[in-house]
Amino acid sequence: MNGDSAVREEVDLVVVGGGPAGSTIASLVAMQGHRVILLEKENFPRYQIGESLLPGTIHGICKLLGVTEELAQQSFPVKRGGVFKWGVNPTPWKFNFALSPNFPAPTSTAYQVERMKFDDILLRNARRLGVDAREGATVIDIVEDGDRVHGVRYVDESGVERVIESKFVADASGNTSRIHGKIGGERHYSDFFKNIATFGYFENGKRLPEPYSGNILCAAFDEGWCWYIPLSDTLTSVGAVIGREHAAQLRGDSETALMGLLDRCDIVKDFLSDATRVTDGVYGEIRTRKDYSYSQSEFWRPGMFLVGDAACFIDPVFSTGVHLATYSALLAARSVNSVLSGDLSEQVAFTEFDRRYRREYRTFYEFLASFYDMQVDENSYFWQARKVTNMKATDVEAFTTLVAGGHSGEAALTDAEGIVAEFESSTELLNGAVNDTWEMQSSGNEGMGRLFDPPVVRGLMDGSNQMLTKDSLGGRVPEVPLFEDGLVPSADSLRWVVPVPDAPAAGVR
Ligand SMILES: Cc1cc2nc3c(=O)[nH]c(=O)nc-3n(C[C@H](O)[C@H](O)[C@H](O)COP(=O)(O)OP(=O)(O)OC[C@H]3O[C@@H](n4cnc5c(N)ncnc54)[C@H](O)[C@@H]3O)c2cc1C
Repeated sequence: MNGDSAVREEVDLVVVGGGPAGSTIASLVAMQGHRVILLEKENFPRYQIGESLLPGTIHGICKLLGVTEELAQQSFPVKRGGVFKWGVNPTPWKFNFALSPNFPAPTSTAYQVERMKFDDILLRNARRLGVDAREGATVIDIVEDGDRVHGVRYVDESGVERVIESKFVADASGNTSRIHGKIGGERHYSDFFKNIATFGYFENGKRLPEPYSGNILCAAFDEGWCWYIPLSDTLTSVGAVIGREHAAQLRGDSETALMGLLDRCDIVKDFLSDATRVTDGVYGEIRTRKDYSYSQSEFWRPGMFLVGDAACFIDPVFSTGVHLATYSALLAARSVNSVLSGDLSEQVAFTEFDRRYRREYRTFYEFLASFYDMQVDENSYFWQARKVTNMKATDVEAFTTLVAGGHSGEAALTDAEGIVAEFESSTELLNGAVNDTWEMQSSGNEGMGRLFDPPVVRGLMDGSNQMLTKDSLGGRVPEVPLFEDGLVPSADSLRWVVPVPDAPAAGVR
């Protein structure tokens, strides 16, 4: 059927892709009562690489999303930091997230996850929060009118082409879809990170001694490095990353090539000495990925924006992919929510999204590029982290804060517990107003709950959002803008607000 003759739906936000970026933006916009449809071409659970996560994602964004308890019930290995055989130091060195002042216990840990399970939890949670998430739904194009994007065309699971009109389109479709090109500009591939990764899965590999058995292990060799990520008591994700100039080593049989590279890392070779490679099921394939280090020159245009891998990715060595995906989704959600509520213009709200996202990306890019210098030791890497973050902290504190995902200083990443607790305490107050207005609206019900949209509730929310004083934040210190003339997150972290006058800018980069 032609899309023009199909029934046209209208919503506030359409999200393309149901990975971590897509589920996060969809959830955080739906939480403000807006109507959100998410379109995912696969049927979940589906495979994805990117299994090692950061504390800022688990205790920050996942806390805001309300999934920390469900994640804790999954028996995912607990990641306390990393062990690296890297640089001139001949012995492996380690770091613990707990050394970061921004991630005190119990937030100084993350998980190693099977992405099939993790992504499925986030997608189901989005549905629970009111998102209309449709699987087997492939977006084939955007709908635009002049400068402005106002919807998408997609093919549903029965092969019917449909159109959804929306105020915003979020492209969260990862690195292989072509939708990102509709934003304009170009995808710039990194001149520095021109790597290829090959990886597989093993049963019964060895573990680091407790309490570090859940840590990621990375070991360098002349042409690249290997990762070793425990996914359960017995299953391990193991891969090798090499420069593109060494691509000839990947020719021929994929198993021989992978094992040949893993044998180059003594510690990984030893850990796999009693292990068996998984050869069937979803983990039975040896996969190869290349051209994954890039950034789109534009992150947004009127009515559309990119989040996660659709916008940019750098390099897997410090497991920053899911952090960048979910953090960019949080930044974009604030912008969408602020525009939909009428608080800010699209230009102002998305300029803040763009600046913060680029700042996060650039800081990691600069640090990761210096981390590939193998002629120095770990103390030099720690110093470099302090240099690129400009943090007032020791070198090790700056390093652990950066690689935990907390250098932006955002409370949403480092004190989500405080935000949620503060927000919950005002919920009872809000509930009465919500119930009243919900009853008032229910006769003209639009089909999806717009819980926080009614004017009386918005009035209450505005009150608590604009007064970013220490008292109104339950003792939390109000956030300062990251840029001169910039914005700060609202008390619930779901919108942008203009900071109180005279708040000093963090003034970094
Ligand atoms: C070798 C390697 C190792 C990595 N290791 C790590 C790691 O240890 N830790 C880490 O955090 N990150 C890691 N990453 C990065 C990580 O994989 C990504 O950054 C992360 O998956 C990005 O999430 P996303 O939601 O943006 O995209 P994705 O997870 O790719 O999700 C995008 C979704 O969009 C869907 N989609 C695509 N096109 C369409 C369409 N047209 N219509 C509808 N749906 C569509 C896809 O099916 C998919 O489900 C690694 C990357 C590589 C290459």
